[in-house]
Amino acid sequence: MTTTRATATGTATGTATHCPYCSLQCGMRLAPTAGAVPVEVRERPDFPVNRGALCGKGQNAAALLAPGARLTTPLVRDIRVRDIRVRDTCDSALARATPAARGELRAASWEEALDRVASGFAAVREQHGADAVGVFGGGGLTNEKAYQLGKFARIALKTATIDYNGRFCMSSAAAAGRIAFGVDRGLPFPLADIPRTDCLILVGANPAETMPPALRYFRELRENGGTLIVVDPRRTRTAEQADLHLQPVPGTDLALALGLLHLLIAERMVDVDFVAERTSGFEQARAAVMAHWPERVERITGVPVAQLREAARHFGRARTGMVLTARGPEQQSKGTDTVGAWINLCLASGKAGRLHSGYGCLTGQGNGQGGREHGQKADQLPGYRSIEDPAARAHVAAVWGVDPQELPRSGRSAYELLDSLGAPGPQGVRALLVMGSNPVVSAPRAAQVSERLRSLDLLVVSDLVLSETAQLADVVLPSTQWAEETGTMTNLEGRVILRRRATAAPSGVRSDLWVLKELAERLGAKGPGGEGGFDDDPETVFAELRRASAGGQADYAGISYERIAAEDGVFWPCPAEHHPGTPRLFLDAFATPDGRARFAPVSHRPAAEEPDEEYPIHLTTGRVLAQYQSGAQTRRVAELSAAAPGPFVELHPRLAARVGVADGEPLAVVSRRGRVVAPARITDAIRPDTVFMPFHWAGPGRANTLTNPALDPTSKMPEFKVCAVRLEVS
Ligand code: SF4
Repeated sequence: MTTTRATATGTATGTATHCPYCSLQCGMRLAPTAGAVPVEVRERPDFPVNRGALCGKGQNAAALLAPGARLTTPLVRDIRVRDIRVRDTCDSALARATPAARGELRAASWEEALDRVASGFAAVREQHGADAVGVFGGGGLTNEKAYQLGKFARIALKTATIDYNGRFCMSSAAAAGRIAFGVDRGLPFPLADIPRTDCLILVGANPAETMPPALRYFRELRENGGTLIVVDPRRTRTAEQADLHLQPVPGTDLALALGLLHLLIAERMVDVDFVAERTSGFEQARAAVMAHWPERVERITGVPVAQLREAARHFGRARTGMVLTARGPEQQSKGTDTVGAWINLCLASGKAGRLHSGYGCLTGQGNGQGGREHGQKADQLPGYRSIEDPAARAHVAAVWGVDPQELPRSGRSAYELLDSLGAPGPQGVRALLVMGSNPVVSAPRAAQVSERLRSLDLLVVSDLVLSETAQLADVVLPSTQWAEETGTMTNLEGRVILRRRATAAPSGVRSDLWVLKELAERLGAKGPGGEGGFDDDPETVFAELRRASAGGQADYAGISYERIAAEDGVFWPCPAEHHPGTPRLFLDAFATPDGRARFAPVSHRPAAEEPDEEYPIHLTTGRVLAQYQSGAQTRRVAELSAAAPGPFVELHPRLAARVGVADGEPLAVVSRRGRVVAPARITDAIRPDTVFMPFHWAGPGRANTLTNPALDPTSKMPEFKVCAVRLEVS
């Protein structure tokens, strides 16, 4: 499956909208059909980001709009998990309870389902306190939903317990960006700047599989004479297109970046004027890299000294340059420091805050950017405000029509929240609303997370399909999806775009905004109309979001649906209607109090779990072209499922020979957290000391059964990208 174009019609017919999946948010058109699938995807060449190109996921996105492919009625379970808890004495017994033993999900009316949710949340709140009711959101929710979900948690549930799966996506890059630049926006420049840079280092990113239409930017860079360097333990389809591929041991990207900065300094490639005029903290960073001489870095990373020198010279001597990271360096227990080290490299060589130069993060989820700006993160209020900042609390409380004192404080990060589900005592979360997330597949140490979800008094899941998490729920709320509703998304460039409703939803399905309004009313929060209310009209919610974000870092005050439609999206910050938006940040100054970018004085440290005698191999995880995130949607699309039907264990021929496994044979992978089995896929594209598994599937091949929840101390990102395993021929 390769990048393809949707049905070409030659005319711009259909509703202009965007793909439901990744952060590229490719433009597409949806035209009505007479078949079971109510619309078909057509190309939209006028949208500048993808110019009509779509990957297979986008091209087949309409399949899930067919009534038979998705949920169309609320479901409730008559015997609640809590009732089983009475009979069983420990959580492990609970975890073994089959759905049948816990009562089957059955169809219910919306009245019954919503009453059950509201009364259950109220009962838990009364018995265990407000923070015992939790909310877990998603990076695929529209800005309007993310905003309303954060507001619902804070003023309808009055809980501090809210976070979202975007924590697992880009939180380390966000934290490092805020430390260095004073603000976090995935890319501080448009994608269109990439072909104009002279040297680009792509670290732990595989856009050839995750967002294929973006590859043209990298191709154009090379056609323009630029150099593409890819850092990845695997020779991915992206790495195959690079001028230089560095293949480090998983979890050593930090040492690699420090080694490159060491060489930049040693070979006098530091831009001393830029460092003096626009940065602070260089001396401390320089002191930290002195211990990372090339031979030592080769020993840590496995990257030969000659390649280190070649990379440093390409980047250091280039007039302009960029470093882009993705989940590889970010999903580590030292992800913030690792990204900080790559930013240091940009700063020292003067490749930040200048045209066609800079650091950026390739965000993963469709609204990974907007989802983290407007309040579903544990420590944030809308506009990328801190929930601990008195001025921010006062501003947002005024918009919501409540006393600032009523707003909860910062809550627990995503994994900490999941790990506290069902725990005894005041820290335990007893009821949870999950909206647009499937942590049974996507969370680290997933078997334990599943147990925790089963131990709740009340689990409520809003989703469009019966995901693995929804299968554990006491109440399932069928939600409208992408083409059935209007709302804004913010793509990886910080470009706010508009998804338009193109078709009606099945009659039994409701929007998440409507669900939140109904629940808020049942919980005694204000109804729609006026500040502090809960409206279900997306444009009305967006108007309130604009006011709530006004004056914040992610300022949307000047963005309207009309402007987005007229301008192919608007880049934030955009503080007023006459403001043009901000495609490029930092050209004049960084967003720190003194306008200077800050070096991070970081040093290498090993992964939380290094190989040893018992678990001698590195495991790293990632995505494949035809599937998206937890696969809840893409696994249900026949074309995508045929292209990528199940998990596999990628390993080097030498390792396969040592283990005694042949291509396609079942291979068990065992970590300290569990054991999975999947077919071996033998290739010399991976290091002999490492195996790779994609994480899109549940069941016996679930990669996240194995992954390590060790958290980065700053971003609270779990260490998805590296843990220690052993292999057993199954
Ligand atoms: Fe959709 Fe991303 Fe594929 Fe574009 S690259 S079609 S946004 S999944």
